[in-house]
Amino acid sequence: MKKTGVLLVIIAILISLIGVMSTLTFNLYQISFDMHGQESVVREYGGPYIDPEVTAYRSPVLMPFYKKELYVSKFMHLDVNKMGEQEIEYHRKIGNKEETAIRKVTVEDHKPPVITLITDPEYYTLPGHEYQEEGFSAFDKLDGDVTDKVISREENGIVYYSVTDAHGNEATAEREIVYDDRKGPVISFANGDYVKIMANSSYKDEYTAVDDLDGDVTDKVKVEGSVNTSSPGVYTLKYTVSDSYGNETVREKKVEVLSRRGGIIYLTFDDGPGASTSRLLDILDKYNVKATFFVVGVYPGYFYNIKRAYEAGHTIAVHSYTHDYARIYSSESAYWADFENMQDVIVRQTGHRTNLFRFPGGSSNTVSRNYSYGIMTRLAQQAADKGYVYFDWNVESGDAGRTTDPAQVYRNIINGVSGRKTSVVLCHDSKSYTVDAIEDVIIWCLNNGYSFQPLTENSFTAHHGINN
Ligand SMILES: [Zn+2]
Repeated sequence: MKKTGVLLVIIAILISLIGVMSTLTFNLYQISFDMHGQESVVREYGGPYIDPEVTAYRSPVLMPFYKKELYVSKFMHLDVNKMGEQEIEYHRKIGNKEETAIRKVTVEDHKPPVITLITDPEYYTLPGHEYQEEGFSAFDKLDGDVTDKVISREENGIVYYSVTDAHGNEATAEREIVYDDRKGPVISFANGDYVKIMANSSYKDEYTAVDDLDGDVTDKVKVEGSVNTSSPGVYTLKYTVSDSYGNETVREKKVEVLSRRGGIIYLTFDDGPGASTSRLLDILDKYNVKATFFVVGVYPGYFYNIKRAYEAGHTIAVHSYTHDYARIYSSESAYWADFENMQDVIVRQTGHRTNLFRFPGGSSNTVSRNYSYGIMTRLAQQAADKGYVYFDWNVESGDAGRTTDPAQVYRNIINGVSGRKTSVVLCHDSKSYTVDAIEDVIIWCLNNGYSFQPLTENSFTAHHGINN
């Protein structure tokens, strides 16, 4: 028992000694900081901040040159998106000894806004004219969009822009005004670019030319070509004018001198649109001839030509969707169902229904007798009741069986229209040889004083006698 007691006392003394020693030991050391960088720094708002760090050392009080590097705890709450003064604290503790270092960081705004000019390479200002703003924007890191605070002024061909942010930072920008003139004068014709006049009437060529910079330059227009009003035909006049910046404008006008001899010709084309319709439309455009198309739904791949023909001023009318005699002439309901199918196509292409149509085979056909006796008589009556107008023809091109020769098609048409006051000519744009003949037909007719018209509800209908 005694031995044990002595041992306990010795242990207690040892523990006390360790405590005293360690306290003494810690107090024999000191902590020092070596602060890299400055103790007080200024940083830009929103910009990067890299802390230069500090190093802490422990050294015996009696031997300050004997340094041992220590780990440093840092409390860095720096927010570069917050204006004003902030602190970074560095700590180190040994035993109950604690040392602190502080670095002051001040976040300031010295950055001006950024002005962005919108520039269009095509943009220019006419010499002597006021500059029209092309556009700009201004953005500040702190204030956000400051476009509406931008002030601009124009001086000696330069636009000066400036804007100041909430902290007095000013941004400026300059724009050199591009003075130029890239547009030629505009030539206007009093009566459009296709004029029709009667032979031997007086013709006064009326036009004006106005330039955006030079003003009225009508007297500078050079006109090539002339119109012989005593000789029917189509004449082309060419007008050329340049402005003071060398921008040239060229325009053409066609003058058609109509003979007093000729009559009116309604060119009608059935069974299209098809493979040759585009070519036909090009020819009609070239001579400014308006025709009538009795369309079918047989070649859906060419339906776009219905739209093109409509937009060019031609008349679009129903012929048939299927053009199948056995089907459409089997009953009135079958006929009108087929008719409506074609109307649907026309509406899709032109946006409008039409009241004009032509019976497949014409109103005088006898083929319908094979399918329904008397159906043509009933259909003609129903068409009138519905407000529709049907057309037959009084001139045949012969292109639906009699010939495939363009020269013969040409002769058939010329012979048919010659001396006739009003001609409704049956052609088929589904036949390429008819399209081959049509340009010569047009040239002959124009040179002989005939004029072309598209059919309307009030046109001559050229009705045949009904045979069924
Ligand atoms: Zn037909």
